[in-house]
Amino acid sequence: MKMKSKQSTITRRQQFILFLSIMASFAILFLTLGLIIFNSFQSSTYKSIDKEMKSEVASVKKQPNMHHDDPGPQGPNPQYKKKEPTPKAPFQASILVFNQKGKLLNKSSLGNRYSILKNIKFNKKNLNKKQTIVIKNMNFRSILIKVSKNNNNPMYAGNYVLIMQNIDTQIQTMENFEKILAITFFVFWVIALVISYFLARINMLPIVRSWKQQTEFVNDAAHELRTPLTIIQGKLEYMLTKPNKKIIDEAESISVSLDEVNRLNSLTNNLLDLARFDNATTQLNFESTDPKIFLKDPIIPFKDIINSQNKVFQISLNYHPTLYLDRDKIKQLLIILLDNATKYTPKNGTIRIYDQLVNGKYQLIIADTGVGIKDSDKEKVFGRFYRVDKSRNQSSGGHGLGLAIAKQIVENHHGNISVRDNLPQGSEFVVELPIKHNK
Ligand code: ADP
Repeated sequence: MKMKSKQSTITRRQQFILFLSIMASFAILFLTLGLIIFNSFQSSTYKSIDKEMKSEVASVKKQPNMHHDDPGPQGPNPQYKKKEPTPKAPFQASILVFNQKGKLLNKSSLGNRYSILKNIKFNKKNLNKKQTIVIKNMNFRSILIKVSKNNNNPMYAGNYVLIMQNIDTQIQTMENFEKILAITFFVFWVIALVISYFLARINMLPIVRSWKQQTEFVNDAAHELRTPLTIIQGKLEYMLTKPNKKIIDEAESISVSLDEVNRLNSLTNNLLDLARFDNATTQLNFESTDPKIFLKDPIIPFKDIINSQNKVFQISLNYHPTLYLDRDKIKQLLIILLDNATKYTPKNGTIRIYDQLVNGKYQLIIADTGVGIKDSDKEKVFGRFYRVDKSRNQSSGGHGLGLAIAKQIVENHHGNISVRDNLPQGSEFVVELPIKHNK
């Protein structure tokens, strides 16, 4: 109980960390995306403003005065005032003309704008520099240029011209865009939070499951190890109390201890096999082979064992497809299945091994007329340490790991293993293996 609560605390903490990291990733992603979008929008806005400014500069430098903000009446050449403003000239542009000393020359043409624009400081240092300036809450993009003495417009000629473009609309648009972007990203980030929460939970499920399996596995393994160790310890302690006795007198204790050592040996080997499958360090030596060749080896010794127990052993292997497998592992698999069939089949029973070709796969079937397996146990028997009848299996020496190893071996061969009833009595283990087709 205590372990369970500790486990769930760790799981919850892990889930929270996972949630935080997914959330932070989303936040970084959205922020970066937002910044990129906003920056590119801002720079394209400024680019289009600057493009207009450029054409304005060109029109001031090259053309005669055609601008609506043309100083007109102040200009010594009044003929220009009749000209229409160039259609390309931006509507929000204001032009300020300064002489060499920085005195504003076109005060009157500015009209009511003068009250605002008079605050502008003339600074030669800003020559040809594009600047964004704010005057009385109004935003301007400006550039100061020096007009050559040969300019057609006598008002500009030889003076400094400050072109100012009102960019309030663009700034407003940018601010609105920024707001919409922030709101959209916030909404999506909240949606992402909900998704992160569920993602964290879903991602934790296999971890929790494998954690649970691992803990159960270690518990079961410890339990299985304890029983033989306790027996051996008991026997050894007993023998120590009788130091004068001969080995022959204690043969029974020694033989029991040896049996337990054997059990321990097979258990540790099985545990090692499973651990190797788990961390994928099992080296499989695949080779192309005919079933007849690899089946002979493990089957023959069983003939004598089964017959000596007054049971019948039938072999009917008729197919010869090419299979791609690790002979040693398949041998281990067959030993597990044949050993079980022998163990769980009483005297006078029959154990049969036969093959089939089904749906382009090779099926090897080990059938017995033994105790059979209930439907509710058919899946479970492939689980680790699962034994249908624990007391009976204790005496038959099983740890409940054989079929778990068998399943791993078959899965490593991209095959499938299942169990079904052998009617009217017993069970049938079906090992299905893919056939290798020669190109
Ligand atoms: P064990 O070492 O206990 O035999 P296995 O993993 O090989 O472990 O088998 C798991 C359980 O499945 C066994 O304890 C037994 O209850 C059941 N079982 C396996 N093979 C057979 C069979 N041929 N007939 C009936 N029951 C079987």
